Amino acid sequence: MDCIFCKIVKGEIPSSKVYEDDEILVFNDLNPQAPIHFLVIPKKHIESCNYITEENKDIVGKIFLKIKELSKEMGFFESGYRIINNCNEDGQQTVKHLHFHVLAKRKMTWPPG
Ligand code: 5GP
Ligand code: ZN
Repeated sequence: MDCIFCKIVKGEIPSSKVYEDDEILVFNDLNPQAPIHFLVIPKKHIESCNYITEENKDIVGKIFLKIKELSKEMGFFESGYRIINNCNEDGQQTVKHLHFHVLAKRKMTWPPG
């Protein structure tokens, strides 16, 4: 399967890793949109949030708990942050492997573009 993020999981494409365990990989976005901008992905390929099911839904809770832990370690738990998931064409999803952007250390704007 030709998936960039699966290749990052396998180490075939280098990445700047923030955290890794058996199920989750966190790495810095190549094109950061904030002083902190990392991506959190399940190691197992899930195409988008449209493919979250009864069987694989636990990974989403684990990802959000890990984001909370990292926010404390990296010093933005109190100041705040933004978690973004883009889905399909209107959502501007460019990589078809479920990922959550985490942006922090600047004041975000609303509404998003
Ligand atoms: P999407 O637009 O699908 O929500 O987000 C994909 C994100 O992946 C983009 O922010 C883009 O900068 C990032 N990205 C794409 N290719 C790579 C890569 O090879 N390495 C890293 N670290 N980030 C990537
Ligand atoms: Zn993948």
